[in-house]
Amino acid sequence: MGQDIGEAIKTYPFYDSGNALRIKKLQWSSLRLMFIICTVFSTTIVVVGCLFSPVFSYCLFGDFRSWRYLRFWPRLLVYVYYLFYLSLKGESAFSIPLPLTAPPMSAPKLNPIQIHPDWPHGLSCDSCSKCCSKIKCPLLEKTTGKCKSYNSFYWRYFNCGRYPENQADIDRFECPKWMETPSGETERLK
Ligand code: SF4
Ligand code: SF4
Repeated sequence: MGQDIGEAIKTYPFYDSGNALRIKKLQWSSLRLMFIICTVFSTTIVVVGCLFSPVFSYCLFGDFRSWRYLRFWPRLLVYVYYLFYLSLKGESAFSIPLPLTAPPMSAPKLNPIQIHPDWPHGLSCDSCSKCCSKIKCPLLEKTTGKCKSYNSFYWRYFNCGRYPENQADIDRFECPKWMETPSGETERLK
């Protein structure tokens, strides 16, 4: 009984690391797809939005009590329409094209990018919120400059947790914290 489920699954004959990764990818893409489909229905049919509000509350704030985040819902609704408008114009608020099967991430890959040597706050963004302001994210608390959705499902499964991936991402939002690792260094870190 003390055996971990992950360990138990490895004893089955169909198990190999390739299958495990395929199962993971299926899980990540299914969760993303469900979130996107729920968002589409919830932003077009108000009743559906109300029904799913605890799920969205959990995905965005890590808390099923959706009534505690009432002030965010109208802003998020407008934001979804804003993103839709941008996509119709052939633009995107986000810099990272996200494959549905990509793993969720809580921090960017430290190769090929690294913290800029002039950035004094280490891994922390300190009081900077440039990238969030530039995309007009309604989850940015104006008073504190903090992300209300930090490390949530949405944050890890979509663009925020993995930003930035390369110098183009960094330049797009004029991020002062990250820089692309010089190519010689990239090879050394592999
Ligand atoms: S980090 Fe938070 S505030 Fe910034 S864009 Fe992502 S969800 Fe919005
Ligand atoms: S622009 Fe860079 S430093 Fe500023 S909040 Fe975004 S990731 Fe952090």
